[in-house]
Amino acid sequence: MHHIWGVHKIQAAVLRASGGPLKIESLEIEGARDDEVLVRIVSSGICRTDIDFMDDWDGDPVVLGHEGADIADVVGNNVRGIRQGDHVVLSYQSCGSCAECRKGHPAGCERFYDLNFGFARMDGGNAYAISGVRGHFFGQSSFATHALATGRNLIKAPKDLDLALLAPLGCGLQTGAGTVMNSLKVPKGASIAVFGTGSVGLAAVMAASIVGAGPIIAIDKNPRRLDLSLELGATHVIDSRQDIPSGLVRIAGHGVDYVLEITGDSTMHRLAVAAVKPKGAVALIAEPGRSESLPGGRKVIGVIQGDAVPQRFIPKLIELYRAGRFPFDRLVRFYDFKKINEAVADSKKGDMIKPVLRIGGA
Ligand SMILES: [Zn+2]
Ligand SMILES: [Zn+2]
Repeated sequence: MHHIWGVHKIQAAVLRASGGPLKIESLEIEGARDDEVLVRIVSSGICRTDIDFMDDWDGDPVVLGHEGADIADVVGNNVRGIRQGDHVVLSYQSCGSCAECRKGHPAGCERFYDLNFGFARMDGGNAYAISGVRGHFFGQSSFATHALATGRNLIKAPKDLDLALLAPLGCGLQTGAGTVMNSLKVPKGASIAVFGTGSVGLAAVMAASIVGAGPIIAIDKNPRRLDLSLELGATHVIDSRQDIPSGLVRIAGHGVDYVLEITGDSTMHRLAVAAVKPKGAVALIAEPGRSESLPGGRKVIGVIQGDAVPQRFIPKLIELYRAGRFPFDRLVRFYDFKKINEAVADSKKGDMIKPVLRIGGA
């Protein structure tokens, strides 16, 4: 039986037409069910997946956003370990009952697509239907003052840190760091090249530095991002407008052990696959469906969310941040919620690494 705790009035940035703009509107949503938590959103990161959706979407009006940092407000009866007033970070949604989820690998959830991109609750319903829009993007829709999450995609956060800053841990930073630490398990001393140094790539660079990899080679067309890569742990950088293969040979000899391809660009994809040594591995982040085996024992693997279990991995990243080893605050620029379209435009220009919207007070 689902108990519904009334209807909530919220403000949300609604996408009504392909390409936007997003318009902040007053909506009503259903309250939290027994397996849900109504959260008050303090901040939300903007991730490339939001922007890609904006540009490609032509369905019903939707609320995007999937990197929420929040305060638990109404906690459903069946949600364990979370109380009203707790600080939480939201991550991707998973079902908890398929074979992959039960093995402790929610990033491989059989319902991953439908729970994160289906704009519906776990049971297929839509708490936003009374307002004629769809929500529940990544089990959250965080471009709003409130959202409904579940125990599966909520991660408790410490109260002594700036909650607003923690938002991007839920997707982009987890994906970059998790690909290095969980998916590829890059060991100390291994060489690594990272194609694309947005927030995912820079998180990968920081994680490579934490595990003691080297050389760590960052590749991008944006000089500002390359400078930041060097400050965050890259040992070398290559401007992607130059000759990438000869740059790699100069730095790493014939091939690198691990390659991350984050750009989704077909030329970069080809160069990334060509850069890896025999027995090495390439992680594709923009194209998770394209795993293959190549000659020489080389592997190409598609990666989703850095194979992270958010409730374990995000606290680990928070502790690394506290220790000064994962200084992701260097990537963040805050925008007022009302400036959401400006934040999206800046992000598209490529200079801004991680825009984070300030939505409510902590
Ligand atoms: Zn599952
Ligand atoms: Zn994302």
